[in-house]
Amino acid sequence: MEMSVNAHPPLSRTLGRPLVVLAVALAVGFVIGHPWAALAVAALGVLAWQQLQLRRLVRRLASRQRVAVGAGGDAWSDLQQLLHRNQEEHRHRAQRLVEMLRAYRAAAAALPDAVVVLERNTQRVQWFNAAASDLLGLHYPEDTQAPLGERLRPLPIAHWLAGGRNAEPLLDVASPINPGMRLSLRLIPYSDELWLLVARDVTKLMHLEHIRRDFVANVSHELRTPLTVIHGYLEMLDPADQPDWAPILVEMQRQSQRMTQLVEDLLTLSRLESQDSINDEVVSLDSTLATLRREAEALGKGQQTVTAEDRAGVDLLGSPRELHSAFSNLVSNAVRYTPANGSISIIIDLDEDGGVMLSVRDTGYGIPESHLARLTERFYRVSTSRSRELGGTGLGLAIAKHVLQLHQARLEISSEVGQGSVFTCRFPAGRTLPRTASEDFDP
Ligand code: ADP
Repeated sequence: MEMSVNAHPPLSRTLGRPLVVLAVALAVGFVIGHPWAALAVAALGVLAWQQLQLRRLVRRLASRQRVAVGAGGDAWSDLQQLLHRNQEEHRHRAQRLVEMLRAYRAAAAALPDAVVVLERNTQRVQWFNAAASDLLGLHYPEDTQAPLGERLRPLPIAHWLAGGRNAEPLLDVASPINPGMRLSLRLIPYSDELWLLVARDVTKLMHLEHIRRDFVANVSHELRTPLTVIHGYLEMLDPADQPDWAPILVEMQRQSQRMTQLVEDLLTLSRLESQDSINDEVVSLDSTLATLRREAEALGKGQQTVTAEDRAGVDLLGSPRELHSAFSNLVSNAVRYTPANGSISIIIDLDEDGGVMLSVRDTGYGIPESHLARLTERFYRVSTSRSRELGGTGLGLAIAKHVLQLHQARLEISSEVGQGSVFTCRFPAGRTLPRTASEDFDP
């Protein structure tokens, strides 16, 4: 809005209306013979008028009333006009903000994902969209201000919510209103006071994932029997008896061995993926260490130096069979990716937070940093040719990661090209036990 301040204002405006009034009063005073008295009366009148104008304006502003556009053409009118313009701008800005807020709310309300705004300290619900009613069973208005952990009670999320900024997304949980519906939950702390909980319906995705898993398991299972037969017959043939066929026979035996291992690894992975938990048993880490050392020496055929050390003196709660499969994958990798004369050490130690860790350290080829994050993906290899040449299936680390997840443990990998690698399995304090009598580890 433009303010109309004239380029050539009238005299009253240039001098100001009060001055003109005083000048006129003085002139009249001279005419009637009492100039000072006329001036004093006029001055008092001007002062009173100014005071009145000021009061009026202050009252309007204080009561948040809109200031009318001044039409008098004096300083008061200009001031009124300025205030009016500011008020209008402010009103427009506020209106735009309200419209934007409405648009954002409408967008959030229309999302197919459930969106819940939570108060950080109390975890009370501040706002939620329509999908939150369909997916999480929240109802308006009863559930505004309800503590979310309690409101979604069938879901074990109170502990998860307490994790706040560090809470890992929950990828597959049952909906509190329909156990057949699978949800993925994500907590996004977006300000100091407020969190956003986003729940997505992943039922279809989980169903597809199930189909994929079953398919891989079934194919692997179907392949197992014919492979065992072929492998068995090939093993019976001695290349020394067939000098002409010897190289072909050796290669066929090698490849059938590789295929058998691949099928076994795929079946192991399918079994692990379909499990939510494991049967806990006491796993003697002392015996585990001895077994792993023997395996490393046998696999490396004495080409590397293998050392094993138990600095923790505790045992582990978990599945002996699955843990053996995870640890021996790490050990077999260390042997396969470390050239002759290198060294491999297997160390069990206590963590600072009371947990226990098993590390497999080698002085092998090492892994470039850019590959580290993806190593545990199925069939991910740094060098496919080297992995194949060394009899790898590309599934060893994926198996290790799954086994550790089932034990609430994690796999940490550090490596330097040309120097070697360290693979560390970290188990939480809840899985360590005081050492029991040591038996040989027989998974
Ligand atoms: P693979 O059967 O190919 O060894 P893994 O899943 O066990 O499959 O390992 C994935 C990839 O990680 C390997 O192909 C290899 O490139 C790399 N890798 C694993 N362990 C080591 C190690 N100790 N030293 C160097 N590279 C390794």
